[in-house]
Amino acid sequence: AVSIENLQKFYGKYHALKNVSLKVKKGERIVICGPSGSGKSTLIRCINHLEEHQGGRITVLGTELDDNIANIDDIRREVGMVFQHFNLFPHMTVLENCVLAPMLVRKESRADAEATAMKFLEKVKIPEQAEKYPGLLSGGQQQRVAIARSLCMKPEVLLFDEPTSALDPEMISEVLDVMVSLAEEGITMICVTHEMGFARKVADRVIFMDAGEIVEESSPKEFFDNPQNERTKMFLSQIL
Ligand code: ATP
Ligand code: MG
Repeated sequence: AVSIENLQKFYGKYHALKNVSLKVKKGERIVICGPSGSGKSTLIRCINHLEEHQGGRITVLGTELDDNIANIDDIRREVGMVFQHFNLFPHMTVLENCVLAPMLVRKESRADAEATAMKFLEKVKIPEQAEKYPGLLSGGQQQRVAIARSLCMKPEVLLFDEPTSALDPEMISEVLDVMVSLAEEGITMICVTHEMGFARKVADRVIFMDAGEIVEESSPKEFFDNPQNERTKMFLSQIL
C-alpha cells in the first residue's frame, strides 16, 4: 500500500530523514517509535505529502508522490490521518465534523454521510455525542471522534501520530481499544506511538527510528525480547 525508498528529507540544511526505506503491504500494521526529534512525525507526514521530500521515492496506492503531483487530493482521501491534538473543527458539531469531508470530497449526500457517520460514532462508542461541539468532550472522546471522522472517508490507509500522548492516563485505553479493534479488522495502519502494549498486541512490525534513520525493524516479539541495536536497547530501557 505504501512504498518508501531511500527517502531524504531536509528542513533547510537540517537532514531530518536519512535514506529511509519502508514497505507496508495492504492490511499490515506498523508501529513506529523512537526518541523525540528522531523524525517519526516527519516520516508519516511525508506519506500524505503534508511535507515534501527532497530525495528518494514514495509511492502510495500505486501513485508516486513527486513535486508536480496533481492528484494529491485523490491520495489524501485514501489516507486518513489522526493527530496528537485531534484537530477537530471546534465550531462544528461532532456530526458536522464527520460529514464535512465525505460530502465535499466524496460528494456523498447528507443523508448517506450522516448514516455513515453515525455508524462510525457507534463503533467508537460515542453516538450520543453527535450533536455536541468538540470542546464539550473529554480528550479521549475527542480523539475517538477524530478516528471516526477519518473512518468516514473510508480510507485505505490510516496514519496515527501519537494519538494518545496528549491524553490523561485514564483516557488512553478507551482510544487504544478502538485502535485495536480497527487493527483486528485489517485496515492498513501506520502508528507512531510509544504504547508498547498496543505494539505487542497488534503490530506486524515495529520500526525504531533515531536521528532520522530507521535503526531497527522487527516483529514485536523480537523487538521487545531481543533488540539488536544499542540505541534500541537504551530506548526500551527508558520507556519500559
Ligand atoms: P516527537 O517525538 O517529539 O514528536 P518526532 O520523532 O516526531 O519527535 P519530528 O517532528 O519528525 O520528530 O522532527 C524531526 C526533526 O526535524 C527535529 O529535529 C525537528 O526539530 C525537525 N523539524 C520538524 N519539523 C520541522 C520544521 N517544520 N522546520 C524545521 N525543522 C523541523
Ligand atoms: Mg512527532
